Amino acid sequence: MSARIKAELKEEADKLKAQGIMPGLAVVIVGDDPASRVYVNNKKKACCELGILSEEYALPAETSEEELLALIDKLNCDNKISGILVQLPLPKGLDEEKVINRINPKKDVDAFHPVNVGKIMIGNYDFVPCTPAGVMELIAESGIDISGKECVIVGRSNIVGKPMSMLLLHKNGTVTVCHSKTRDLKEVTKRADILVVAVGRPEFITGEMIKEGAVVIDVGINRLENKKLVGDVEFESAEKVASAITPVPGGVGPMTIAMLMKNTLKAAIVNKEN
Ligand code: NDP
Repeated sequence: MSARIKAELKEEADKLKAQGIMPGLAVVIVGDDPASRVYVNNKKKACCELGILSEEYALPAETSEEELLALIDKLNCDNKISGILVQLPLPKGLDEEKVINRINPKKDVDAFHPVNVGKIMIGNYDFVPCTPAGVMELIAESGIDISGKECVIVGRSNIVGKPMSMLLLHKNGTVTVCHSKTRDLKEVTKRADILVVAVGRPEFITGEMIKEGAVVIDVGINRLENKKLVGDVEFESAEKVASAITPVPGGVGPMTIAMLMKNTLKAAIVNKEN
């Protein structure tokens, strides 16, 4: 699905370029977190596949907040750059909120800036955070109707859980958001027709916590000590009860990248209009 979307986006990128609209993504990475390095490489590779400009800014972990903010100011004014992405998490000592708030909302392809977060709440937005957008695309492309369904999200992060809840609500789902203080999690997850899990704990949700026939979307990416990548859902027990389930790796991850490309093209159009 992600390959097909990227192929469509490549055609769109070619059309934009023919009209003189040049999409360009700046990816800023601070420090040497190995997982962040993998994600940044994947994002650059996707830009390359679509034939769009990507510029990487790899800064050392000891970069000061002033230096990072100065780079963002520069990229905000750079006409070659339509989208700016700062890979999170940032090293300790750098204020993520301050850094995100500095990105021009029109170039905020991650949709983390408060202006874009507010627009998602209202339901009138240019950019959707890439992971929840990828989940919505997976659901839609699989022909699953959300309207009236019990949708349960486990996890309430600003990056996944909260925007996910808004997107499902906009599609008329009946949405419940669970977190670490939820009492009797199993009782809630068992009600879900559509279960989205973004907790960051390996194989945390097991088959017995899932309703027969539910659609299960596993956002989690966890590396075990033996280096194996697993999700937040125990795939083996869950697939026995679910009517549809996403694998890890290879499920939500590639869709997230595809949605980043979609936002980058959108940013090129938005910035051209202004
Ligand atoms: P966060 O750590 O920001 O949030 C985790 C959430 O899980 C919190 O809301 C927390 O609750 C909740 N939680 C923790 N323990 C429990 C528990 N025992 N019961 C119920 N809820 C619990 O994580 P993210 O949202 O950033 O990421 C979640 C996972 O998704 C990670 O594995 C991450 O790697 C992955 N991810 C994957 C992406 C992709 O492209 N596929 C993109 C982004 C993330 P509380 O708020 O109360 O602390």
